[in-house]
Amino acid sequence: MAAKKKKTSTPSVWLMTDHLSVDMPSLEGHPKGTPVVLIENIPGNDEIQFHKKKLVLVFSAMRHLIPRLEEAGFDVDHYPIDAEGEKAGLAEAGVEVALRHHIQKTGCRRLVITSPSEFDRMTIAQSLEKELGIEIEVRRTNRFIMNRTEFREWVDAQQESLVMENFYRDMRKRLGILMEGDYPVGGRWNYDVENRVPPMDNMDLPEIPRFEPDDITKAVIAAVDKVHVGNMGKTDGFFYPVTAEQAMVWLDDFIEKRLRLFGMYQDAMISDNFVMYHSMLSPAFNIGLLNPMDAVRKVEKSYYEGDTPINSAEGFIRQIIGWREYSNGIYWERMPEYRDLNFFEYDMGLPQLFEDGVTRMSCMKSVIQQTEDTAYAHHIQRLMILGNFCLLTGVNPQAALVYFKRAFIDAWEWAAVPNVIGMILFADGGYLGTKPYAASANYISKMSDYCRGCFYKARKRVGERSCPFNYLYWQFLHRHEDQLKSNKRMGMVYNLLKKKTPGEMNLILTSSEAFLNKIRTDGTDRPKRKVA
Ligand code: SF4
Repeated sequence: MAAKKKKTSTPSVWLMTDHLSVDMPSLEGHPKGTPVVLIENIPGNDEIQFHKKKLVLVFSAMRHLIPRLEEAGFDVDHYPIDAEGEKAGLAEAGVEVALRHHIQKTGCRRLVITSPSEFDRMTIAQSLEKELGIEIEVRRTNRFIMNRTEFREWVDAQQESLVMENFYRDMRKRLGILMEGDYPVGGRWNYDVENRVPPMDNMDLPEIPRFEPDDITKAVIAAVDKVHVGNMGKTDGFFYPVTAEQAMVWLDDFIEKRLRLFGMYQDAMISDNFVMYHSMLSPAFNIGLLNPMDAVRKVEKSYYEGDTPINSAEGFIRQIIGWREYSNGIYWERMPEYRDLNFFEYDMGLPQLFEDGVTRMSCMKSVIQQTEDTAYAHHIQRLMILGNFCLLTGVNPQAALVYFKRAFIDAWEWAAVPNVIGMILFADGGYLGTKPYAASANYISKMSDYCRGCFYKARKRVGERSCPFNYLYWQFLHRHEDQLKSNKRMGMVYNLLKKKTPGEMNLILTSSEAFLNKIRTDGTDRPKRKVA
């Protein structure tokens, strides 16, 4: 289904739910009056039931795009979830149903799309081509810098494992970002060691601009509340940017007010502020409201103008041209089998505490509640709190993947699969990451304020009220010793494990077993309430 030379008739353009921009390649070069199809359906919603704020973001951004498309001369064929008349129910019935309706109505014989970001959308497009006998023209996306062929060439050129840091350095050179000739500006490629500063009390945290819902967003909220009543979360308090202009306001605000300290505190976590110094731009990047390279260039400019220190500029740029591109490359390199990997053969379903936040673990409770409220958690909250819990307790990777896709407003599959399967759960056996991101309470108590009010004691390793992350960490290492001990980066912790006395090891294993049994049977560590 590569781009075809033969052009048969006036095409229609299908703009997918994460391609919400007037500068998508699929919109280029068409005559006035070309139909553009917009369907308010995120494929996978029936099974996953995405967070309501994600649905509001996508459908509101879609509706805000309609006048822009019309101004540009397109004839928009919109399938809203609150449609009446002949379109009623078509969006909820699925993108295939809505597209069939459009094709039959217009007699369209050629559908132009921008290369889908998710594997299953490509499958949908291929099946439509086959079933309806229409031609599908796929144009290369401009939302990623590196295409799949280029990533494959990079993979083939690697001597051993695929190390993100090597990929990132190649991208810096290829794009000339933060470079002085062949060398990185400032003399170093990576300022990660400076970017692990714990949070302080009474930090001065600027407020992020909140975009109150306008009439369009209010109509979407009402429709989502009516049609997708069973989905996760609430629509209340929606404040995300839904237009390219609003997304640019967030970018400029981030550069002006938060970027300077973003580097230092990017791994820090506090319970009463989920934004801290983060950009919160991933929801906008991932649906097309903002071009990631525009943000990279602006951040680089801010560094050269002396407004941003190198550790913050480099840290942000690494997220975009490093991790973002690398995740997308790995996803397409290894799909579809990648999402089904399960290196540790974990079989536990997602515990109930992820659904209701009922737990004595203050860190878990805080991040789960925050996610329920905002549909957002920053990278370290996802990796070192929620992900760490899944890794240490043995949550099935595919069950965890469903949660991460459902819960987070920016979690499209190309990002969620490498993050959950590769980075968080090491379910690929080390294809993406060099070692599992397992951590005890030591890391969490250092990098957050969660432990202060917790029922458990972060410093206590075993015994009453000892933090579950402490004994589960050693039990994890013990349980997977055969699979991990030859990993060079795990040598030090396995040496420490060897030094544990039989008595301490016995306490670690019995405490872990008791905790895991409780989680498996009750879905929470909280004791059941006694019925009077
Ligand atoms: Fe989390 Fe343990 Fe700290 Fe409690 S003590 S907040 S469970 S790390």
